[in-house]
Amino acid sequence: MKTPFLFCLCASFLALGARAEKFSLVGATVINPADGKVTPNATVVINSDKIERVSIGKQDAASLGKQIDCSGKFILPGYIDTHVHFFQSGDLFTRPDVADLSSVRPYREEVAWVKSHLDDVFARYLRCGITSVVDDGGPMWNFEVRKKAGATAKAPRVAAAGPLLSSVSREKLDLGDPPIVKIDSPERARQFVRKLAEQKPDFVKIWYIIDKDHPVEAFRPIARAAIEESHACKIRVMVHATELETARAAVEEGADILVHSVIDKPVDDAFVKLLKDRGVILCPTLVVFERYGRTFSHHLNLTPEENAWGNPEVIASLDVTKIPSEKLPQRIRDALADPQAALNRIGKTYAVALPNLKKLEDAGVTIAAGTDAGNIGTLHGPALFREFQLMKQAGLSPMQILQCATANAAKLFGGETGARIGKVENGFFADLVILKADPLQDIAHAAVIKSGVVYSADSILP
Ligand SMILES: [Zn+2]
Repeated sequence: MKTPFLFCLCASFLALGARAEKFSLVGATVINPADGKVTPNATVVINSDKIERVSIGKQDAASLGKQIDCSGKFILPGYIDTHVHFFQSGDLFTRPDVADLSSVRPYREEVAWVKSHLDDVFARYLRCGITSVVDDGGPMWNFEVRKKAGATAKAPRVAAAGPLLSSVSREKLDLGDPPIVKIDSPERARQFVRKLAEQKPDFVKIWYIIDKDHPVEAFRPIARAAIEESHACKIRVMVHATELETARAAVEEGADILVHSVIDKPVDDAFVKLLKDRGVILCPTLVVFERYGRTFSHHLNLTPEENAWGNPEVIASLDVTKIPSEKLPQRIRDALADPQAALNRIGKTYAVALPNLKKLEDAGVTIAAGTDAGNIGTLHGPALFREFQLMKQAGLSPMQILQCATANAAKLFGGETGARIGKVENGFFADLVILKADPLQDIAHAAVIKSGVVYSADSILP
């Protein structure tokens, strides 16, 4: 996938207003990554917010509504990022528990900025062709974000988890509605899940963090209780587990989704079989593993898409050299003093994570694309294009990557919505990306359709 360039918008896309109506996309090549099928000279008929039908060859004009000539273009299902956090902006001040810069910008101000920029974040997802996202956990007001997205035309569809049930606490993030809650007994875990269930979360999220004070086995009964209670409430469970033994324990206890790669060891055959047998979905989030270290060491490698479509204020904040040295936390000062050490650590992580992804993909484990956007340096929206590059580096083919970002991601999204996104098929939501060239070569897109409403790509952001 080469770098896209901005595309001069086509008058016919502009002609369709902001209201869904019956129309047809005529003459494009339709790509369905679910089964890898490529259909040239197709007609996609869209009625209101759904795809009415996809047919091949010449059609009876009377049944098509308004026609948009798409010859030479390619149509894909809208992309789905299955790992984002709306409570984080991606800027330098968004995780004071990792890098405390609250003397430069108080965390309360950061959160107020995040809450006041949700429309901007929503629009950036659509600009990138991302028509659905999964919020993998945050404060209780995550559920308000889900509701707001549902009531906003220029926004992706949102599925959301609430506060993370965690083995460790993060006081610096607690302003009264904490995103991460330390749970220290199975009974507390059950109570917490029952309280969450009142909000009808799409997922329960467990933050299974281990270190010498928090061994795998100590949290295991708590994870088990949380998973049992969630399943009793018919809620799927996603687990943050980045070590092989933590991930194995989580899946053995019934986790439905692993939200990161295993980064400490090569995955073994027993683990691969366990994931396959249990039908576990794994979301690799490769991009987030480089972005803390690269931001802190002043070696950020934003792609052209990220520079073009990421929020400019967020991007500007990531230059750590603009902050007086005495205000920088030790972690950032160390990274600036020895950037090579930071880059080496990232290299070591990828030396394990990329082959692990390839092995799981080859074995037929369901991989869903996701970025962990909102973390420092991982930008809402275009971070997905860096994720694509890293998945390609792992050895996945462009079609496999597109499958991870559409049909597989829809499985992770789940529910009634998940069953109607991720494919260009009759009865599915008309959430589409129209590309000016073959996406297996180039990801530049001309227009994005969400819920049957067409937006020319250049018109989405202010
Ligand atoms: Zn996350």
